[in-house]
Amino acid sequence: MRLLVVEDERDLAENLKKGLTEQGYAVDIALDGEEGCFMAETEPYDLIILDLMLPKMDGIAICNSLRKKGLNIPVLMLTAKSRIEDKVEGFNTGADDYLTKPFSMTELYVRVKALLKRRDKIELPVLEVGNLKIDLFKHKVYRANEAIELTPKEFSILELLAKNKNGVVTRTMILDHVWDTSYTGDSNIVDVLVGTLRKKIDLPGKGKLIQTVYGVGFKLAAKE
Ligand code: CA
Repeated sequence: MRLLVVEDERDLAENLKKGLTEQGYAVDIALDGEEGCFMAETEPYDLIILDLMLPKMDGIAICNSLRKKGLNIPVLMLTAKSRIEDKVEGFNTGADDYLTKPFSMTELYVRVKALLKRRDKIELPVLEVGNLKIDLFKHKVYRANEAIELTPKEFSILELLAKNKNGVVTRTMILDHVWDTSYTGDSNIVDVLVGTLRKKIDLPGKGKLIQTVYGVGFKLAAKE
């Protein structure tokens, strides 16, 4: 487990590192907000202990930045303030828990453990159609337990088809889902990508899952 401590009080930061290392975690320290934000966004941490008041960039701004980038790393916010409004503000910006300074190390360990445990329990769905499995969390696709490599766009189309299992997905739906609104290219691109997707998914002898609904779109369904 890799933890990041973003805390500008050097003594506290060092104490946290020492204590958490003794608990078996690998711990990095950032002493200001900018450095902390950069490290949090570039290194694969399991949890961030984030001070609220920091030079250069405060804890709330860091949290906002992480969440905006889609990073759902658990954040334990440290705050010297104990007013309820501050707690609420912390939660609204995506912190998962908070601790008011001063706190005991034992209390900190308990919170850290709880957050890591909670994170492990969050299972993103694995979509299944026949013997096709789409792991949305790991971005992996398996047909009859064999891994299939897809491009991001192919994956995105397959995800949409699987979420609408047994229903028709139109070319427009696919265009809207896979490309941003500025895309003005040829809608044939959908047919091209569904074609390459089909070659990878519907391997010979495995049965056809991607069906063309003529004049409308496509459907992902397992034949009974
Ligand atoms: Ca501080």
